[in-house]
Amino acid sequence: MSDFTMTIDGNSVTTDASFGVINPASGQVFAQAPECSRAQLDAAMASASRAFRPWSRDLPARRKALLACAEALKARLGELAPILTQEQGKPLAKASEELIGAAVWFQYTASLEIPVEVVQDDARVRIEVRRRPYGVVGAITPWNFPVLLAVWKIAPALLAGNTIVLKPSPFTPLSTLKLGEVLRDALPPGVLNIVSGNDALGAWITGHPAVRKISFTGSVATGKKVAAAAAPDLKRVTLELGGNDAAIVLDDADPKQVAEKLFWGAFSNSGQICSAIKRLYVHESLHQPVVDAMAAIAKSVKVGDGMQPDTLLGPLNNKMQFDRVNELIEDAKRAGGRCVTGGATLGGGGYFIAPTLVTGLAEGARLVDEEQFGPALPILSYRNIDDVIERANGTMYGLSGSVWSSNTERAADVASQLECGTAWVNQHLAIVPNAPFGGAKWSGIGVENGPWGLLGFTELQTVNIAKS
Ligand code: NAD
Repeated sequence: MSDFTMTIDGNSVTTDASFGVINPASGQVFAQAPECSRAQLDAAMASASRAFRPWSRDLPARRKALLACAEALKARLGELAPILTQEQGKPLAKASEELIGAAVWFQYTASLEIPVEVVQDDARVRIEVRRRPYGVVGAITPWNFPVLLAVWKIAPALLAGNTIVLKPSPFTPLSTLKLGEVLRDALPPGVLNIVSGNDALGAWITGHPAVRKISFTGSVATGKKVAAAAAPDLKRVTLELGGNDAAIVLDDADPKQVAEKLFWGAFSNSGQICSAIKRLYVHESLHQPVVDAMAAIAKSVKVGDGMQPDTLLGPLNNKMQFDRVNELIEDAKRAGGRCVTGGATLGGGGYFIAPTLVTGLAEGARLVDEEQFGPALPILSYRNIDDVIERANGTMYGLSGSVWSSNTERAADVASQLECGTAWVNQHLAIVPNAPFGGAKWSGIGVENGPWGLLGFTELQTVNIAKS
């Protein structure tokens, strides 16, 4: 039986069945998670449906509840962080950062307004454009930032007046289940339901008749299935999917200055970030100095169990991802790539791969063309700026990208030509609560964060009032 419970109708709910959760630092099951039954999912949906009307009618109460969620989360941070590290792999300090980030997101979202626009107000009519919540939101999250990405959905969906049934990834269900427990007293029953189970539970949610809007974060392949599942019932969807972000270093950059930021832009969370740098293009005149500077950092970084205080990079989260990244590294070697650093697993039973920098590859190699989502970065060379922009854009992914230069105006001009949702200059992974985050092309539909993300949980309603 599981030590963790689901949250349905404000109650702590146990299940008959459970499934094992693996600590990726050891490769061993360390806890059991509840396996939600169909009847329990129906109960969660019924509860969310019942809670919707009263919840949707009181914006000040919702604002207050979100602030209470932030406080509750901060108060239990010490309890949540080790659970997150043990199931996800990230260093404990990074788990705490993720949780603090989630509290910040609650606080920021609580400050947002839901606008009412008046498009006409004269002797004859007053026409208002209002924003209505959808009703029940089905939310599905991945395993790389389980708590933060859940809160990216929970906070705006709730402020807008919706209620939620949320399912975390089966690889990292525990911290999200704990989050449900932590928030139980801050929210009325039924407003936030958290259920756990395998992928089939995700499909039950997307197909459930009570759901009016689906908010999904995960891979492109699953995102397409979610879009298809939403279509017969015309459910609204927001999809935050994978990326293959290009970073372009222009010929006037200072290799020593940019190397560290480039390294962490690619390797933070062991590369398991949707918008991490996944292809690095360096002008041929700077290629070698940039490779050398990044290699020095890669060699100095401690990879290990996230519970050890000196660990900077944890393991890959799961065996499937570990195998996939290893396969891409082996394929890169066969394609003529040279591993300047890493290129090997670290043994010990956990899913560890040393930070791997690969040179000598070109487009066509799988490590360049596919989303690796792990600690292996191809560093490519270019000569001509138009050519490199075309290469950066030559993909169906379009999440984010960055340009690096000592001339920010020049870099911003190149950045504006990247076909992606977020373009950074002299930084990468600078994700903030108050700007929209989302993908072009296969990287997604819709955005999260800022007023734009909030309004994604609403639909327009024209209220047209005759005055006589
Ligand atoms: P995944 O697509 O395998 O799983 C994501 C979630 O979908 C899980 O909860 C899973 O159980 C569920 N799921 C699986 N099959 C389903 C189905 N048929 N119907 C409904 N739900 C289903 O993704 P993952 O491996 O957990 O996460 C890694 C991917 O997520 C990467 O591609 C990464 O780039 C992407 N990602 C994107 C963002 C973003 O904001 N754009 C953020 C983080 C991760």
